[in-house]
Amino acid sequence: MRHVAVIGSGPAGYYSAEALQKSFGGAVRIDVIDRLPVPYGLIRSGVAPDHQSIKAVYRRYEKVALTDDVRFVGNVAVGRDVSVAELLDLYDAVILATGAPNDRPLGIPGSDLPGVVGSAAFVGWYNGHPDFADLDPPLGVEGAAVIGNGNVALDVARILAKTPVEFVGSDIVAHAFEALGNSAVRDIHILGRRGPHQIAMTPKELGELGHLADAMPRVDPADLPPAADDAALEPGLRKSVAHLRDFAGGAGAGLGKRKSIHFRFFAMPVAIEGDDRVERIRVEKTRLDEARRAVPTGETQDISCGLVVSCIGYSTPPIEGVPYDDRLGRFRNTDGAIGDGLYCVGWARRGPTGTIGTNRPDGYEVAERIAADLGGGASGKAGRPGLDRLLESRGVDIVTFRDWQKIEAAEAGRARAGSPREKFTSIADMLAARGG
Ligand code: NAP
Repeated sequence: MRHVAVIGSGPAGYYSAEALQKSFGGAVRIDVIDRLPVPYGLIRSGVAPDHQSIKAVYRRYEKVALTDDVRFVGNVAVGRDVSVAELLDLYDAVILATGAPNDRPLGIPGSDLPGVVGSAAFVGWYNGHPDFADLDPPLGVEGAAVIGNGNVALDVARILAKTPVEFVGSDIVAHAFEALGNSAVRDIHILGRRGPHQIAMTPKELGELGHLADAMPRVDPADLPPAADDAALEPGLRKSVAHLRDFAGGAGAGLGKRKSIHFRFFAMPVAIEGDDRVERIRVEKTRLDEARRAVPTGETQDISCGLVVSCIGYSTPPIEGVPYDDRLGRFRNTDGAIGDGLYCVGWARRGPTGTIGTNRPDGYEVAERIAADLGGGASGKAGRPGLDRLLESRGVDIVTFRDWQKIEAAEAGRARAGSPREKFTSIADMLAARGG
């Protein structure tokens, strides 16, 4: 029997657990450890609440979690309750599946003004992550700037633009549902430092903006390259650019729509200003050099806004004693291997790119590697009972998968009409909901 600890219960964590089961046959015990009392990481806290069909992948992870050789160990923070070195003593292999939950810093003057938030915080707020439930972003303002041209910027712009009725069927948490329902935001500016051909937005997600009840996407036709140039684009990007062309031609327009989503290309944020909170963002017009990099031109423009959400990518938090690549914001690794017995998967391995499905082959590759490194047979490691003894001696209150199922049932039971669940947004409430 082999013992493996997976740190993180998001997609990368559960795909790895699933893959380990296959690689080792029945001869492995896997503990999936999470610092929250609730599983699924990015699926619960990152995927947009109005994208329930994407969130439904959790059912696959649930199947894995319910098998006898996989155990969920919630409410246990690695680094606080147990160290990586201790886990390496207890398990044959330790896999870091900790994702990339930290916002990359914007690093321009004024980015610390109240009203400037990172997408991890903003997305965490509307998804009910306990770390960000109290964010209270300023929504009593007309202008909001969303920095970045990726899918997260699209999620944030869409959530800011939706009417309450468009959240039917979603699991947006009550505090965000109410605040967004009372929002005064009318102009949402999506700022891209490069052009329409350089966006990282996928067609399905971009196309959604054309069907909003009370918001209209706007693209300045002058920003679009000649239509003939689209032929050279990769097919997905070509479809996305076709949406931008439709928006420039007035698609998404409708009588009396009160909100606008302005795509502003070649607009590099250079400063955020305001007396005691954000009042405007200064962008500098750019042009592209031969390598398609943004080159500032010196021409600036101020955009009035009381909220700035920076959606420019994420990094993995370092863990003491684990080699870390500061430049790439992830663990230093070779094809998922970090050092003796220590591995990483998903965004902690590759950085914050790709879809949820990208983590599947990633998890399978690392599991096969671990199987090859360890071989079969018994290890003599203490595994689960050893972890339980250590955590008990430290008074750590472990949340099991059965406990989670009670929390899950309580969340379903208090959902507003049409919603699958009303999430608990504090750890204390989650722990209370599992009962005695
Ligand atoms: P992303 O796709 O890497 O996009 C980041 C954007 O930020 C890029 O447009 C980048 O522009 C821009 N940027 C970076 N630094 C900047 C700066 N200093 N100033 C201005 N702009 C800057 O990242 P993401 O949107 O966070 O998404 C992360 C991953 O999750 C992606 O793979 C995404 O597709 C995925 N995701 C998928 C979905 C979905 O499928 N529904 C939803 C959300 C996220 P440059 O290109 O110029 O660097």
